[in-house]
Amino acid sequence: MGSRLDDTPTKDLDPVVSEILRRAEAGELCCLSCAAGCGATDYAARICPSCGNPVELRPVSGRGRIHSYSVFHTQYHSKLPAPYTVLLVELDEGPRLAAVFDGEGGPPQKVGDAVVFSGAVNGIVRFSMA
Ligand SMILES: [Zn+2]
Repeated sequence: MGSRLDDTPTKDLDPVVSEILRRAEAGELCCLSCAAGCGATDYAARICPSCGNPVELRPVSGRGRIHSYSVFHTQYHSKLPAPYTVLLVELDEGPRLAAVFDGEGGPPQKVGDAVVFSGAVNGIVRFSMA
């Protein structure tokens, strides 16, 4: 029987997600973008929703704004003790992604605040105040 804190529940189930995390841990935040030039699209897309062409990974600025956030009071990851804040970040390029707020103890974050990609370790993508 596995641990209650399964740190990699989707590992290798989606090679696109695995590659996004691998690049983020190397310091390069990426998004999915239409190979035919329609622009950035949602992280869940596997084809362009506008033209149906393939999507590819492209580096992004790492800048965005807090679309929403939630404070977690339960530990779901062995390397992420509660409490912690999960942000839904809207990147300047458009797509939204969930990330851990890297700034607990600082000023409280608000919806609309500017944030910036601050790194990724152990499959956890982090953003801090810009
Ligand atoms: Zn397209």
